[in-house]
Amino acid sequence: MHVLILGGTTEARVLAGLLHPGARVTSSLAGRVAAPRLPAGEVRIGGFGGPDGLAAWVREHAVDAVIDATHPFAERISFNAARAAASAHVPLLALRRPGWVAGEGDDWRDAGSLAEAAAALDGLGDRVFLTTGRMGLAAFADRPEWFLVRSVDAPEAPMPARTEVLLDRGPFTLEGERELIARHRIDVLVTKDSGAAATAPKLTAAREAGIPVVVVRRPPVPEGVPAVASPEEAAAWALRV
Ligand code: NAP
Repeated sequence: MHVLILGGTTEARVLAGLLHPGARVTSSLAGRVAAPRLPAGEVRIGGFGGPDGLAAWVREHAVDAVIDATHPFAERISFNAARAAASAHVPLLALRRPGWVAGEGDDWRDAGSLAEAAAALDGLGDRVFLTTGRMGLAAFADRPEWFLVRSVDAPEAPMPARTEVLLDRGPFTLEGERELIARHRIDVLVTKDSGAAATAPKLTAAREAGIPVVVVRRPPVPEGVPAVASPEEAAAWALRV
């Protein structure tokens, strides 16, 4: 039994740990992070060269099942996986953690894209806490506000003219997020709807501080791919294949 996990998330790492060493597991990482946390089992790093490259890799390495455990915003690799699994005739499962849901006292503004999130900042204040990752800052490059950009690795230009970069990697604590929002006198938080527990405390801290949150909604998922919400369910599926 050889399971290919398309990874880059905490859930993918947990899943590899659940399946290894009972099954042969290869985790695939895109190679975006300089020093990634490595999962148990075998690891390969770098793109496959589109859906055809992924299908060829699956065939060459006698993969029995593919689990797409990539980040909910990694849209292209998920579509590539759907196409590759169909052409290589291997079962595919998507592991998607649930999105965040606003609670009482939350002031959330939906945005369909990073560009919409940038436009939504009009009138929300001058000091923005931007947590959408180091890619895609170009969408905010023309904004006049001051930005605190938090990311694992340093972001690259183009980015807003008034930017302070904070290199850090979750999990984050509620106490730490409260302190950060207060110290930088943050007026508005911008986040993707990643749904991760490790990064959720910023939402509670924003509610407590009474500041709005611009939430970038998830891109669509490929049709016809079954999905589960937890690594445990994904591991059980792999063992049934
Ligand atoms: P993407 O736009 O969906 O993918 C772009 C290309 O990167 C894909 O076509 C593929 O190249 C390669 N790729 C992506 N994930 C890969 C993987 N797990 N293994 C091998 N190749 C992969 O992806 P992205 O948004 O740049 O994200 C890249 C990785 O970072 C993902 O694995 C994701 O889980 C992780 N991540 C993303 C975010 C986010 O906000 N987007 C946040 C945290 C972690 P080829 O076509 O050449 O195969």
